[in-house]
Amino acid sequence: MMLTVDQARTRILDAVTRMPTKKCDIVDSLGSVLAQNVYADENIPPFDNSAMDGYALIAGDVKAASDENPVTLDVIETIPAGYAPAKQVKNGQATRIMTGAMMPSGADSVVMVEKTESKEDSVDIFDPAAKSQNVRFAGESVKTGDLVMSAGKVIRPQEIAMLASLNISEVDRYQPPKVAVVSTGDELTPLGAELKPGKIRDSNRYGICAQLVEAGFEVIDMGICGDDVVELERNLRSALGQADALITSGGVSVGDYDVVKIVLEKLGDINFWRVAMKPGKPQAFGIADGKPIFGLPGNPVSSLTVFELFVRPALLKMAGYTKLLRPTFEAVLETDIKNDTNRVNFMRAIIEKHNGKYHAKIAGDQGSGILYSLVLANGLITIPANQTVYAGETVDAQFFGDAS
Ligand code: AMP
Ligand code: MG
Repeated sequence: MMLTVDQARTRILDAVTRMPTKKCDIVDSLGSVLAQNVYADENIPPFDNSAMDGYALIAGDVKAASDENPVTLDVIETIPAGYAPAKQVKNGQATRIMTGAMMPSGADSVVMVEKTESKEDSVDIFDPAAKSQNVRFAGESVKTGDLVMSAGKVIRPQEIAMLASLNISEVDRYQPPKVAVVSTGDELTPLGAELKPGKIRDSNRYGICAQLVEAGFEVIDMGICGDDVVELERNLRSALGQADALITSGGVSVGDYDVVKIVLEKLGDINFWRVAMKPGKPQAFGIADGKPIFGLPGNPVSSLTVFELFVRPALLKMAGYTKLLRPTFEAVLETDIKNDTNRVNFMRAIIEKHNGKYHAKIAGDQGSGILYSLVLANGLITIPANQTVYAGETVDAQFFGDAS
């Protein structure tokens, strides 16, 4: 059966479910999805404080201050950040105050140090001050009892900083899936070993592991497995015992040695699909022991592309994400491109913005084994089946990976 990209993705996304939730240290929660609401137990900031180095004073005292006629105030104390003021500011007085230091009672305004001149026990103020000027009020950012973050929010560095400022050191989040990766093929040679005739390096496993790390998931590297039913079944059963999801590379097309098919069929309810796309037509997907198994095609570009378009969204759903797909946008084509197949073509492209518009040019040879053109590319453009898109027309585009 030939499925469209959307049909295949919908089936995959419908079949996977969210991981359980677990408490973890806030720094370790980076990139995961919050599974609890977060309320403030404290005001932020906790007390009224100065936003500037300067003088805390009563605004009414300096109404008439100017460069020509400064107002002189008695300085009654100095308050560094981290210390509480001891004295109340009265008319005619000021307190030297540092950024973040607690406002003294009585004062209602801060004049920045640049607008003053300090004398022995007094200060000349050259500018009038508005009430509340340069004062940060208790609770102005967050008030006790506020709902600060809702369950479902993706935790970024700013959320972690916010949690810390709320005195929360652990949060409940959806556990990111642990994903086992196996490369299959008798031709695959590990890095460092001699390349014998007919053999190639195993690049897919490294690419897939990196894609998993980039998306924030834990990797279980199961190494290379030959085209041998017994070895592969042992390897995959072991992987299923440790992981929340399983990715295989290679062996899902119609070749005689595609043992992955034989073994996956033994393990669970696995479907082998031809998806109407280029690259990446042969794919396998199914569930075994309640865990999703993704069978990626062996061609290096197909493997990375299928991960990006199908596996990453599914694993993100498991991790609690609701926004699963990378954003797409329109890009203007720089050359004519003809797609005379009945499969949508995801072409490697160099996408750049000129004069406010994205423009795309094809990045090198588009064979599904030509990894180098994916190295040149920063994105994918979509050429619909049986269609020619001419230079100057727009196509759907997306960046490939986080770093693009
Ligand atoms: P297969 O899907 O197993 O029929 O493999 C298709 C093509 O991808 C063949 O040229 C394989 O040698 C190549 N290939 C398979 N697995 C890998 C891998 N892990 N790294 C690099 N190339 C691979
Ligand atoms: Mg193979």
